[in-house]
This record gives sequence, C-alpha cells and structure tokens, in this order.
Amino acid sequence: MVVGAGPAGLVAAARLASSGAGRVEVLEREQEAGGVLRHCAHGGFGSRSRPRTGPEYAHLLAEAAARAGAVIRTGVTVLDWGASSGAMASPGLPAARVSEAGRGTPDHGGASAAVPPGAGRGVPEGVGGAGGIGLHTVGPEREPVLRVVGPRGHETIAARAVVLATGARERPRTARLVPGTRPAGVYTTGELQQAVHLFGQHIGTRAVVVGAENVSYAAADTVRAAGAEVVALVTEQPRAQVPLCRAQSVRLGRGIALLTDTTVTELLGHGRLSGVRVRHRDGRATVLACDTVVFTGDFIPDHELARRGALVLDAGTRGPAVNGSLHTSRYGVFAAGNVLHAVEPAATAAREGARAAGAVLDFLGTGAGAGWPGPGLALTVEAPLRWIAPNRISPANRPEQYVLRTEVTLRRPALYVRQGGRLLHRERRVPGTALPHRTLTLGAGWHDRVDPEGGQVRVSAEA
Ligand SMILES: Cc1cc2nc3c(=O)[nH]c(=O)nc-3n(C[C@H](O)[C@H](O)[C@H](O)COP(=O)(O)OP(=O)(O)OC[C@H]3O[C@@H](n4cnc5c(N)ncnc54)[C@H](O)[C@@H]3O)c2cc1C
Repeated sequence: MVVGAGPAGLVAAARLASSGAGRVEVLEREQEAGGVLRHCAHGGFGSRSRPRTGPEYAHLLAEAAARAGAVIRTGVTVLDWGASSGAMASPGLPAARVSEAGRGTPDHGGASAAVPPGAGRGVPEGVGGAGGIGLHTVGPEREPVLRVVGPRGHETIAARAVVLATGARERPRTARLVPGTRPAGVYTTGELQQAVHLFGQHIGTRAVVVGAENVSYAAADTVRAAGAEVVALVTEQPRAQVPLCRAQSVRLGRGIALLTDTTVTELLGHGRLSGVRVRHRDGRATVLACDTVVFTGDFIPDHELARRGALVLDAGTRGPAVNGSLHTSRYGVFAAGNVLHAVEPAATAAREGARAAGAVLDFLGTGAGAGWPGPGLALTVEAPLRWIAPNRISPANRPEQYVLRTEVTLRRPALYVRQGGRLLHRERRVPGTALPHRTLTLGAGWHDRVDPEGGQVRVSAEA
C-alpha cells in the first residue's frame, strides 16, 4: 500500500508492481495523481536531456505505475492507522469494509486511474534504482492497517507493507506568525499555483512574493502568468537562494526588485489585502502597496499520518526517522520523498520511491514475519547544518547518499563525519557555496567505518 501519488509514491508503486510484489495500491486524496507536479506548470522535471513540465512528468509517472499494474485510487484520504493485523473493520467507522492489499483481494473502492495507451512498463527516465537490506528482529511485528475514506465511504485496509509518500507543505502565514489583519489575497505557492494553473482564478493585480529561493521564483512566474505584477521578492536572507545569473536576470531583465535582509512584519487591509509592512535588518521600514502576497518555501513534511501512527520523527527534518533503506520505526512501514525532509527536487523524491520499493521487495521476499531493523544509531548535524536524511544508521542499510541543509550560506564548506572523537570522513563540497535552501549531499562511503556500539554519529560543516 502506497500513501500519496506524487513522484515518490508513483515510482515506488511502479517498481513494486513491475517486480511482482502482489497487489499494489496507491491511495491519493486529490482527484488526480501527480502530487505537487500537477500544478507546477514550468519545465525542469524529468531527465536533463528531456525536461518536462510538472503535469507532463506527473502524467508520465502515473502512466508508468498504472502500466506496471498498480491501482491508483484517487479521492481517497488515509485518515489513521487501525489496530494490528487481521484487518477487522473498526467499530467506530460506519460501513467499513476490509480489503487486504498485496494479497490479491480484488475488491477495492474509489476512482482508479485508467491505463493510458502507449505506456511502457517500469520506471521512467530520470529515476534511479534501489538497494538491498538486511533485517534485524524487533517486536511487536504487526502488519500495518490503514483507515481510509473515499468515494465509497470508510474502509479499513490491511497491507503487508506501507510506503508513506505524503510529501511536504509550505507553512502558511498563520504558522509563520505574521501579524496584521486577515484579508483575502494571501497565498502559499501551492495555493497560488492551484488557483492559477488548475482553476484559472483571478489572483489580484500587484503581488509581493515572500522568499527568494527556487520556489519563490516559480511563484513570481505564476503571478506574471496570471497577468499580475510582481512588486518585489522579499527575503530575510542576505542574498537570493538561487544561482546569481537567475537572480540577476529576474531583477534586471524583468525589473523585479529583490529586497534582502528584509522581513514582512504586518499584513494590512480589511476585506482585501492593501499592503505589507516590511522592515530591513538596519531598522528602516516601509509599506509595499499590493493586493496579493505569496508566502513561499518554509516547507514542513506532511507528517500528520506518521504522527498518528506514533512513528519516531527526526528532530531535524520533522519527518519520519529512517535508516538508509527507508525503514521507519514502525514494523512494515517505509517512507520516501518529501515527507522525509521537505522539498527536494522531484528526481530525489522519485529516487527515494524506487529505493523504498527495493526495500519493500526485500522485506516481502524475506517474509513479513522475518523481522524489522532495530532503531539504529542516530545521525545528527551540528549548527549551522539544519538536518540530514536518512538520519538513522543501521549497519546493513547503507544509503546511496545523504541529503542535508544548512541554515546559513557557507563558502567552500567541508563536511566532517565523527563518532565520538573519531573522524570517519571528510568531504569538500563542489560547487563551492552552500545556500540555506539548496540541497547539499554527503557520500555514504564512511558507513562501514561506523562502530555499531559507538553511539551517535555527527556531521558538521566547517568553512
Ligand atoms: C512550487 C514548487 C515548484 C517546484 N519546482 C520543481 C522543479 O522545477 N523541479 C523539481 O525537480 N522539483 C520541483 N519541485 C519539487 C517537487 O515538486 C517535489 O520534490 C515532489 O513533488 C515531491 O514528491 P513527493 O512524492 O515526495 O510529494 P508530493 O508531490 O507532495 O506528493 C504527495 C502526495 O501525497 C498525497 N497525500 C498526502 N497525505 C495524504 C493522505 N493522508 N491520504 C492520501 N493522500 C495523501 C498528497 O495529496 C500528494 O498528492 C517544486 C515544488 C514546488 C512546491
């Protein structure tokens, strides 16, 4: 059972279904598969040699999953976890039905994606492979059970394995604690893109975009595509979090101001937004007149389901803690994509989906009663690094690589991996500058040098 039909979930499903994992279902709360890609109208997805728009790439992935034999059920929300194996209908839920994914039960509800013509089997371009695992026995070993609601009402579904691929969301204005009135015209990028690209709604005439990372520039493009003017990009950072050439072409070529070291301190207006008050780090303040503001970035993993399932969350990422093969702390439950670490490129989510599928196949092949890896050693970061994923080390589960983020700009940083006083690894990153909203990677070659009894492993960055 795969929860979420974004790139991570769709690639996991394609790999599982094409590898004979039994019945594979993808549960998706939206009416269409594709996740965030559905409303990313810009290009830049898929392989470098053949970049596609978000909707094109989403279609390709959904097509591959369906062709491989996965059943994609849209309009189906996973609400909670049920009580252990046996798949008994929950007494609290009306008209609950029981189906057992992965066991050949033919009965299923919800809308299923049609298999589009001309699609091939397997994983499409731009998607990486998976690796093997070793398992360690810990209890209790109970197959996961999901409570879901969809077009046919409530169901309780037992699965031999679950891949959580629920993605990430931007924190809205309220979660960012921005003071002021509560006017209309306040969006996140996701809301803006859906309004413009999916529903063709009018969004206003003058917009301030809060943030200066890739997603902020995508939001500015969407504002312009909707026929509105971008007043400015406003960031608390000292510089844009994109390559200099991109920032300059937007600033000089399109005449969009970039206000750095600047915070939005208040929203103004009754009924409709009339402006945002901003303050520079040096104390200067002004009001930018606008009827639309878009809060971009500041992503948080969509971890509600993981929390409800009492999965251990990592303090840095705030997503489920996972080892290198993407096992979570809960028996039979794997996690992949942005739920692990908030927003990374779609190709990373897709790679993780494929990797989780590989681990599920090993798990099912070994037999679901064979055990589950122990919690492993904690892998943590030191400031100014913010998080690292995967973030648990178990000896038999070496990842392909680690992804991590820094809080501040670091010029030519070297990454150090230490256990106790012992230096396990040192790596200088190329290209030279690490930016707060850009992916940093760390190789996993040092994995074999970890002492399983040696306590937590820490990663630091030194310029
Ligand atoms: C504005 C924007 C622009 C971007 N531009 C690019 C780009 O140019 N290039 C690039 O490579 N990447 C880009 N990305 C990043 C990319 O879109 C994501 O990395 C990718 O979509 C993550 O895939 P995912 O499968 O982890 O999650 P998502 O795509 O978020 O999919 C998660 C899915 O899970 C579903 N779900 C969640 N909870 C439940 C539940 N309880 N029950 C049922 N379903 C559930 C959601 O509805 C969603 O469909 C962009 C992201 C944004 C926001």
